[in-house]
Amino acid sequence: MSDCIFCKIIDGSIPSTKVYEDDHVLAFMDVSPLTKGHTLLIPKQHVKDIFEMPEDVARNLYAVAPKIAGAIKSAFNPVGMNTLNNNGAFAGQTVFHYHLHFIPRYDETDGLKMKWETK
Ligand code: 5GP
Ligand code: ZN
Repeated sequence: MSDCIFCKIIDGSIPSTKVYEDDHVLAFMDVSPLTKGHTLLIPKQHVKDIFEMPEDVARNLYAVAPKIAGAIKSAFNPVGMNTLNNNGAFAGQTVFHYHLHFIPRYDETDGLKMKWETK
């Protein structure tokens, strides 16, 4: 999609810090990290959100998710990690090319509080 920033990251016309790439997916560092090591995993096929995601695209993306999480854990040594995905503007989606967030957590020192966190 010509006006999609993540398609432009895939084709290299927008620069990014890539951390993993294969025929089906790309992982790269979030430009405005919520915590140190915040990474995004996207399908190379332009898919808007989970509701439009074909099964084979989901299979290829989620097959590598544990490997991406493990690499981030090794690199940054967090004590936990949120993996999450927003679908639709109301749910907080701002880039309309499906992406899975990996947000490493460093206990209370990371300064981040998810809505559902109680302490
Ligand atoms: P959403 O709010 O749609 O779930 O998440 C979009 C994410 O994409 C945000 O965390 C935002 O910082 C990130 N992002 C937006 N534009 C760019 C960009 O040009 N490069 C990179 N690396 N990340 C981006
Ligand atoms: Zn796209």
